[in-house]
Amino acid sequence: MLRVRFAPSPTGFLHVGSARTFIFNWLYARHNGGTVVLRLDDTDVERNTDASVNSIFDGLRWLDLGWDEEYKQSERLALHRQIADAIFQKGLAYRDFTPAHTGDSEKSGANQTWLFNPGMRELSRAESDRRAAAGESFALRFRVPRGTGEQVRFTDAVYGEQIKSAADIEDFALLRSDGMPTYHLASCADDIDLRISHIIRGQDHLSNTYKHVLIFEGAGAKPPQFAHLPLLVAPDGSKLSKRRHGPVVSVTTYRDAGFLPEAFINFLCLLGWSPKDDREKMTRQELIDAFSLEGINRANAVINFKENLKEPAATLPATSPDETFDSKAVWLNAEHIRGLSIDDLSVRLLPIVHGAGFPIAPEKMHAITPLIRERIKLLRDVLTAADFFFVDDDQLPPYDPAELIPQKGDAAMALKVLTRAREVLAQTEFKHDPLDQALRAAAQAMGVKAGQMFQPIRVAVCGRKNAPPLFETLQVLGREITLARIDQAIEKLEGCASASPKSPLSS
Ligand code: GLU
Repeated sequence: MLRVRFAPSPTGFLHVGSARTFIFNWLYARHNGGTVVLRLDDTDVERNTDASVNSIFDGLRWLDLGWDEEYKQSERLALHRQIADAIFQKGLAYRDFTPAHTGDSEKSGANQTWLFNPGMRELSRAESDRRAAAGESFALRFRVPRGTGEQVRFTDAVYGEQIKSAADIEDFALLRSDGMPTYHLASCADDIDLRISHIIRGQDHLSNTYKHVLIFEGAGAKPPQFAHLPLLVAPDGSKLSKRRHGPVVSVTTYRDAGFLPEAFINFLCLLGWSPKDDREKMTRQELIDAFSLEGINRANAVINFKENLKEPAATLPATSPDETFDSKAVWLNAEHIRGLSIDDLSVRLLPIVHGAGFPIAPEKMHAITPLIRERIKLLRDVLTAADFFFVDDDQLPPYDPAELIPQKGDAAMALKVLTRAREVLAQTEFKHDPLDQALRAAAQAMGVKAGQMFQPIRVAVCGRKNAPPLFETLQVLGREITLARIDQAIEKLEGCASASPKSPLSS
């Protein structure tokens, strides 16, 4: 039975690299009909926070992939100690009573002498039992084999055969002197107990794996298959870190900026993995079908973000997304947006519009959605692409009245066209075909091109030239707002003409 686990430590937020680890585990399990275990590695009480647990769950829930089983390491300490004891009883671990080395000896240095605390490894069992019974505190250390030429080896599904001389592995701690399990022990004990068959995790854990192999074997368990994932790095090749790179390394930043979870998942999958046919845009099901450990690369994967996102995305104005995020992520997002049904997309846009203070009814959002679906790359772009639908009739963002002047026309033409359009629109049914016919006929009768009629209307109702198709837009805005905005445009034109007879508007 294939079982994988994702084991975040709740010491921060959900990092994009961790999200990718979760996604790869999930895809591998779903591809093979296996089970996904979520395990919170929360034994480091000094560094864990509830805020971090919440933020990790927020990120995971947004990805919307789900998992099958859930555990907290802190609730499994008895199991960890039991496995430590089993290793100890076999003589594969020893008590270290040296107070100076009660912490994790990994951190102590790299020369030969730190591999043992003098005398402790050699302590007789009787002496060790006596000191323990007398209440002396001790750390429990793994007795790494010290025979000449002794090696630890495993085959990684991504990085291949891995071999390390046992002489280069210190007698690492399983239990600290306060009785708490170390990460190495807790992780392996849980992996054994939860019958994890595949450990898929970041490449930064590759060097820990030798110790893990020793623990698995020491506990009498077959080590699982390991697959380490290439690092995610910044454009300059440095490891992604919140301190250096800011919010762009946190999953919720992408949520708040208006990425679709399915697009974000698609993007992360392409960082360090590729399908055999090099497709890029893939749905969740296509990813499940195509995913394999063989498709994972060894080279570090670069996220090409621009280092200008210093504020949380939710507080940013909707800006051009290309200025901040990896352009492939943005492109994939636009592709996934286009693949959504209008129903689905409008439901996803509504909370963003409401969050920006526009109490738009769901039906109206549903009507606006097809007009902007091709025009937005991130969900938050709805705020700039469709702003004129959300504001009251008298609150169009200010625009330059010169925009109202049609191509090859002048202010007088703009005025004439808008005045006539107002008359026509006061009487025409606000549906696509009648609007189309009536405005074209009016243009023809006035001897202007259709475009020369449409542009002033478009600018009058949208406040700019670059806007969705005109008749659909008018239909959604409705007669009242359309006429009010045309009146305002006429006023602007008249105001400019009278204020300065020589203005460019009065040519
Ligand atoms: N809690 C560890 C981490 O967040 C898990 C590593 C592992 O997968 O074993 O890095």
